[in-house]
Amino acid sequence: MNYYSTNKQATPASLKDAVIKGLAGDKGLYMPEKIRPFTPAEIAGLKNKSFHEIACSVAQAFFGEDIEPEVLNRIVTETLAFDTPAVQVHDHIYSLELFHGPTLAFKDVGARFMARLLGYFIEQEDQQEVNVLVATSGDTGSAVANGFLGVPGIKVYVLYPKGKVSPIQECQFTTLGQNIISLEIDGTFDDCQALVKSAFMDNELNQHMKLTSANSINVARFLPQSFYYFYAYAQLDKIGKANELVISVPSGNFGNITAGLFGYFMGLPIKHFIAANNRNDIFLEYLKTGEYNPRPSVATLANAMDVGDPSNFARILDLFSKYEHPYEEIKKLISGFRYTDEEIAATMQQVYSKYNYLLDPHGACGYQALIDSGLTEKETGVFLETAHPAKFKSTVDEILNSDIEIPVKLREFMKGTKQSIELNKNFESFKSYLMKQ
Ligand SMILES: *Cc1c(COP(=O)(O)O)cnc(C)c1O
Repeated sequence: MNYYSTNKQATPASLKDAVIKGLAGDKGLYMPEKIRPFTPAEIAGLKNKSFHEIACSVAQAFFGEDIEPEVLNRIVTETLAFDTPAVQVHDHIYSLELFHGPTLAFKDVGARFMARLLGYFIEQEDQQEVNVLVATSGDTGSAVANGFLGVPGIKVYVLYPKGKVSPIQECQFTTLGQNIISLEIDGTFDDCQALVKSAFMDNELNQHMKLTSANSINVARFLPQSFYYFYAYAQLDKIGKANELVISVPSGNFGNITAGLFGYFMGLPIKHFIAANNRNDIFLEYLKTGEYNPRPSVATLANAMDVGDPSNFARILDLFSKYEHPYEEIKKLISGFRYTDEEIAATMQQVYSKYNYLLDPHGACGYQALIDSGLTEKETGVFLETAHPAKFKSTVDEILNSDIEIPVKLREFMKGTKQSIELNKNFESFKSYLMKQ
C-alpha cells in the first residue's frame, strides 16, 4: 500500500520509503491510502483477545499488505513487552496507564515499533546505515533512544539542551552507549530542533549520511499508538462499560490523538474525543474560531505538551477532508480544554487526596478535561495517563508535598555513567561533527 503526502505535491511512497524518509519531499506528512475497517464482529470479539492479539490485528490492518504476518507479529511481540491497563480512578472515570514501558511513557510503543520496522527494512535490503536525529526536551529522547538501542544498522543522535533536562530524564539516554550518541547542546530545545531541521535540509550532509527523524511525523511511530485505543475499548467492553466511550488525550504534537482517530475511522466505537492541552492551546483556538494560528510555545508543568505548532494537525485535517464540512465534523467529534499550571497542580492535589491516585502533570490535563466535559451517567470516560509521575518527580513532590517512589526501571538508569558530547548551538559545529562520523 502506498502513502500519500498531506500536501499532495510529492509522489506517493511505499511503506519502506515513508518510514525511511519520515517527512515527504513536499514537507507534508505521509498518510496511508486506505484505512481497512474492522467488521462489527471483529470489534465485538476484541474483549476476548489479549493486548498482543489485538495489536497484531491492528498492525495487520495497517501494514499487512507490505510485511509478512510472521515478521509483523514478531515486531509487535518485541514492541509490547508490557501492559497498558485501564485503571478505575473513581465512578466512571478510568486511567489508561500507558507508562508501563521501559522509559515509563507512552512514546515507548511507537518508538519500539518504529525501531524494529526500520531495522527490518535495513536488514532486508542491505541498506546503508541510517542515522536517526532526534531533538528532545526530555521524554522523546529517552523513548527513542531505548527503542532503538542495539538495533543493527541504525545510529541515533539525541540532541538535548544542556542543563534544561531533568537528571532523571537525562540519564535515560546518556547512559546507554552502543548505537546511541547524546549531544549536549549549549542552547534551548528550540535550538536543538533547529539544528535537526537544518541537518535535514543540508545537501552535503545528506550525501554523506542517510538521515531520518523519529518523531510522530513518522508513520511507523504514530500509527502503532492506535493499538492501545483498541485495547482500552476491549478492557471496558469486557466489564460492560464501552457503550459510550469518551477518550481524553493529553496532547502536544497530536500524534497520540491522531492514532485514536484512525481507530475511530476503522470502526472503533468511540463516542467522543477530547484534546487536553496546557497553555499551549492552538487547537482549542482552532475549535473556537476555525482558524489555525501557530505561535511560539510557552513553558508549562506539562512540558511534553509545550508545542506551539502541532505537527499532526495536518493529518487531522486530512482525515476529515472527505466530509463536506470538515471543520463542523471535527468540532462534533473532538472538543478541547486547556489548563494553566495552577489548575494542573490543583487537579493533581485533589485526585491524590480524594482518590489516592497519583497523576502526572500531563495526565492531570486529561483527567480534568473529562470532568469539565460533564460526562453523563451512561458515558465512560478514559484519560490517557501518558507518563509515570516519577518521571516528573521534583514537580510532583513539590505539588503534592510527597516523596514518591522511583520505580526500579528508572533507578537502574540512574546507576549508569553519563556519556555525552558537548556542542555549541551553531549549525557549522554540528555539521562538522556529523561529517566526521
Ligand atoms: C509526548 C507526550 C505527550 C503529547 O503527545 P503528542 O502525541 O505529541 O500529542 C503527552 N504527554 C507526555 C508525557 C508525552 O511525553
